[in-house]
Amino acid sequence: MNFNNKIEKIGIVFAMKGEALPTIQHFKLERIKGNYPIELYGNAENKIVVSLNGTCSVTGVDNVGTQPATLNTYVLINEVNPDIIINAGTAGGFAHSGAKIGDVYIGSNRVVYHDRRIPLPNFDTYGIGNYELINTDFLAERIGLKQGIISTGNSLDHVDRDMQLMNQNNASLKDMEAASVAWVCQLMNKLFIPIKSVTDIVDSGIPTEIEFKANFKLATQNLNLKLIHLIDFIYQKSLEEIVSSKK
Ligand code: SAH
Repeated sequence: MNFNNKIEKIGIVFAMKGEALPTIQHFKLERIKGNYPIELYGNAENKIVVSLNGTCSVTGVDNVGTQPATLNTYVLINEVNPDIIINAGTAGGFAHSGAKIGDVYIGSNRVVYHDRRIPLPNFDTYGIGNYELINTDFLAERIGLKQGIISTGNSLDHVDRDMQLMNQNNASLKDMEAASVAWVCQLMNKLFIPIKSVTDIVDSGIPTEIEFKANFKLATQNLNLKLIHLIDFIYQKSLEEIVSSKK
């Protein structure tokens, strides 16, 4: 990764079309080529490309979760080769770490998994992932974002063991994609930033799917406002400026 190069092309990975539509409309992005179920939307010279996990051909729902997000990130990098990958979406937040419905977070420190439990030497560490992020303090301050560790798993709800592991890993957010996108970015040497808005409170006691549905619109609006600001802000900056500048 060359820290001095300007960021000229930005790729944004979303799981759900409903989460992405305001950004697609704001930047007037048009559908471009794509493979498998992945849907790519770009502007002139593909300076900004939104890439969706696509829909399930059997049920018609969005392909949420880690396998489609892995494929999505790979296809996006292969076809467009952005300088930076943003994973934007919704997530659960934790009351005990101060999360409120509609809050928008940028990932900090690392991204982990809570549902890859492999109690064997080194496989345990591999399972958790621990994908390191760049320092996002500057971006959080300039865009007005909360910061926290994101934990990824393939279920919208959670069992007790998930909760234990999320607490052990100091997670502030729970989603279904960020760690898989981080993994592909690590493999393909791409700068990666996750940004997530809170649709539900994991430790509220209210079933996640009820809170998720009730708050999806608000969370998506807040997410897109901050995401558009973030894209405008990092465009034409160098990685070095983003990571180290505290001005
Ligand atoms: N379409 C379904 C739910 C989608 S699954 C419905 O309408 O009910 C949830 C999506 O939102 C995933 O992409 C995931 O990343 C994110 N998400 C939001 N809250 C979450 C939580 N508490 N746990 C895990 N993922 C969450």
